[in-house]
Amino acid sequence: MIRDFFRRHTLLLCFEAVLVPLVILLGMQFVWLGHLKKASALAHKAALHNFLESVGTEVQYFYRSGAERALNLPASLFKEGKLDQVAYHWKKKPVEGTRRLFLADFTREQFGNWLVFNEQRNSLESPPASDESLAMILASSPWQLVRFHGLREGTSSLQVDERNPEYRFVLNPIFDESTKVVGVTGMLLDEAYFRDHVLPSTIGRLMPGFFPDSAAGDMQVTVRDRRGDVIYSSGEEDGKGETVTARFPFVFADWTIDLVSARNMPEQLASASFAFNVTLSILLALALLGGVAFAFRAADRAIKLSTMKSDFVSNVSHELRTPLASIRVFAELLRLGRVRSPEKIQEYGEYIEAESRRLSGLINNILDFSRIESGRKTYDFTVSDVGEVVAAVLKSFEIRLAPEGFQIHFQGSGTPLPSVEMDPDAISQAVHNLLDNAVKYSGESKEIAVRLSREDDSVVISVEDHGVGIAGEEQKRIFERFHRVSTGLVHDVKGSGLGLSIVHHIVQAHRGKVTVRSELGKGSTFSIHLPVKRSAPSLGLHGTGESPLRHRA
Ligand code: ADP
Repeated sequence: MIRDFFRRHTLLLCFEAVLVPLVILLGMQFVWLGHLKKASALAHKAALHNFLESVGTEVQYFYRSGAERALNLPASLFKEGKLDQVAYHWKKKPVEGTRRLFLADFTREQFGNWLVFNEQRNSLESPPASDESLAMILASSPWQLVRFHGLREGTSSLQVDERNPEYRFVLNPIFDESTKVVGVTGMLLDEAYFRDHVLPSTIGRLMPGFFPDSAAGDMQVTVRDRRGDVIYSSGEEDGKGETVTARFPFVFADWTIDLVSARNMPEQLASASFAFNVTLSILLALALLGGVAFAFRAADRAIKLSTMKSDFVSNVSHELRTPLASIRVFAELLRLGRVRSPEKIQEYGEYIEAESRRLSGLINNILDFSRIESGRKTYDFTVSDVGEVVAAVLKSFEIRLAPEGFQIHFQGSGTPLPSVEMDPDAISQAVHNLLDNAVKYSGESKEIAVRLSREDDSVVISVEDHGVGIAGEEQKRIFERFHRVSTGLVHDVKGSGLGLSIVHHIVQAHRGKVTVRSELGKGSTFSIHLPVKRSAPSLGLHGTGESPLRHRA
């Protein structure tokens, strides 16, 4: 039972075996891409923050290392009165980004002695009376107080004084070995140098590392002073996009630095990549499913065809065996001389003839089918009389139908029918097949009607029965080779499944069409439409209304 189910639904199961994991994989990928989208948005934002942090760190490093180099002087220079060496030191290793270098010596005078470095003269001089000098003295005076009060401060470390944004200082108190402050060295920062050199070079150097390729062009860095005025800007400001802001950590601590991703916000980028990936996955899955469906369809067809072929072999063997058996029985009876009356002898002879005709019809069908399949089927077209062809077929059925009680009503067209260019043998075979089916699938009903008519540019041969009928969905398929309706009453009727496919082929070769109108349980009408030969003369054939041919048992 289960094995049977598996055998019958193998393809469906195989298809599901591919489909289900694929759907699960797609679902998982969707969820995963969703996570990735969130993570990549965060990562992008983090990259923006990291960039600003790095700019701050680099700026800090620049000023800190310069200050340490210039301002870290040994206490001995102050104590031993060798401050003139400082000018030499500062001259030899100038510090970039400073407007002025200076020092305050607390070792000699009680209130300290301030000296500024004169680069031109390469000497330390007393500061002139100016705002700058005042700011310098104010910035370093806390240590002067420490010294004055004899407090012990500790170790030296760089200090920043930016209380007055006009004068930004980095200061370094100098302590002797007994942690007593002996002086202060300091540098006054050059804002213009910071704006014009430090910022552009730092940002320009770091940008490609953080935002490679085109992304760097989408980034806009803006530095603002404490009032919010733009001091520096890379690229044009367009105001949209994701913005992150940071402050400088060491000097210029009251300035802010903004980074705007001008076009591609992290969310936009992540959404775009999400949409792209999902679309790609769906397209791939569709392509895969298409391929699989295609393969399964082909396999399904192959399986169906092979089942049909084996059914065909068994059906044909059965069809051959039945008439052969009757022929043998009747022939034996005749040979043994058991039948004496001339009427009986004639009757048996007719049976044998009718059964042989049936056999010939069947074998003709098989041979024709094989010719059609191999493309060897040829037609001999002549201008012929449809009525005559149909009448001949009906006659051949006469003997066969006699014992079965069938009535075939022939109805010719009321008007003369035009000539048709056709292969009479092929058309009679097609009509034969339709009649054969009408008989086979008539069930209890024994009424069959054959009609000839004219419809537009065609002559129509219709065969109508009142038998089992054909369900709507089957009607398209019955013209396929080997196809047999496998349900209902038809089940018991034997056949090869070739008859209608041959009819279809023959009619197509005549540039005509074969149609079916059928209702389950009520009967079917098959119609062959043959195109009328243009400007052909009328053959004057017309039917005489009801049943010129009537067969009865
Ligand atoms: P078969 O040898 O099985 O009759 P055909 O190709 O002639 O093969 O017909 C295909 C199928 O179409 C048949 O098996 C039958 O199910 C259905 N069919 C054909 N003609 C009729 C009809 N007149 N009434 C009902 N079913 C028909």
